[in-house]
Amino acid sequence: MSDFWTPRVRCLDPYVPGEQPQDQQYIKLNTNENPYPPSPAVAKALKACDSARLRLYPDPESTALRAELARRFRLDPAQVFVGNGSDEVLAQAFQAFFQRPEPLFFPAISYSFYPVYCRLYGIEARPLPLRGDFEIDTDDYRGECGGVILPNPNAPTGRLLPLDAIERLCRQQPQRVVIVDEAYIDFGGDSAAALLPRHPNLLVIQTFSKSRSLAGLRLGYALGSTELIEGLNRVKNSFNSYPVDSLAQIAAVASLQDEAWFDDCRQRIIATRERCAEALGRLGFRVLPSAANFLFARPPGGNAGELYRTLKARGILLRHFATPELDAWLRITIGTDDDMERLLDSLAELLD
Ligand SMILES: *Cc1c(COP(=O)(O)O)cnc(C)c1O
Repeated sequence: MSDFWTPRVRCLDPYVPGEQPQDQQYIKLNTNENPYPPSPAVAKALKACDSARLRLYPDPESTALRAELARRFRLDPAQVFVGNGSDEVLAQAFQAFFQRPEPLFFPAISYSFYPVYCRLYGIEARPLPLRGDFEIDTDDYRGECGGVILPNPNAPTGRLLPLDAIERLCRQQPQRVVIVDEAYIDFGGDSAAALLPRHPNLLVIQTFSKSRSLAGLRLGYALGSTELIEGLNRVKNSFNSYPVDSLAQIAAVASLQDEAWFDDCRQRIIATRERCAEALGRLGFRVLPSAANFLFARPPGGNAGELYRTLKARGILLRHFATPELDAWLRITIGTDDDMERLLDSLAELLD
């Protein structure tokens, strides 16, 4: 604690990202990164860049990138907002829509950045308990609130809500913004972007970090009514007019133009996930159904923390959340078939 800190900074409880160890090579299955490289079109576009152009500011509106995203989702470019990672887009959305006297509804088990933003922006958080098997019941999201946010598929459970449930949430809160954080939607769900024409209060947020193998690029985006996008632009232009750098804009457009690469990578991850879920089941794990690029699984015997540490010592990193509700579980990012083979071999040995 420092006396120089403002009262708000003293109260912060910052987000702790998954480990990014710089010391040794791990089989890294802890932060939901994609095991495959981005489209070769990205490298080609970056190599063609003239570094002299970096003396200029980037296009503050990311016009070409927003046009490409609009085309992909059959929206008007005025319905697309881009930012420096979806975490930043989320932060802007919290300021634009959720700073209200009423509490923000979100699932008690979900992305742990949401309560962090609530503290930062002075928003009352109202985490709503999940039902059996970590299911979300949309009936719990009725009543007075300042807004609703949830990941779909949920993190860290991987469980998917169907689009009719998302639509119910939008209908239940017509005066409030409902944000669906679709960081993992490309691994097995239908995007709520399809509901945008009917629901002006819906904001869909996606990222290039997971399904497009570009976590290092830091690029996320929001899709919504022009009204909501204008709100985001008001916040952005009161904070940083140039959040997305020129290289990121170029690389992202190249990624979007190679649909075949994108489809191939995600199909491979989905296939690996299904094989891995079965194999974990045979080892006695309880595995939740997942529509994401990770599995949420409870090892036999229940000592997930110890298993996490033993695997780390063997060079395999998983994610373990040491909270009362999640302590018995492990979140396992889907890597290559080879990565998963090595994980399964180690587990078979340790659990023998
Ligand atoms: C990974 C993740 C994000 C953050 O994505 P970035 O675009 O890398 O900032 C947002 N929401 C959820 C649920 C995530 O898992």
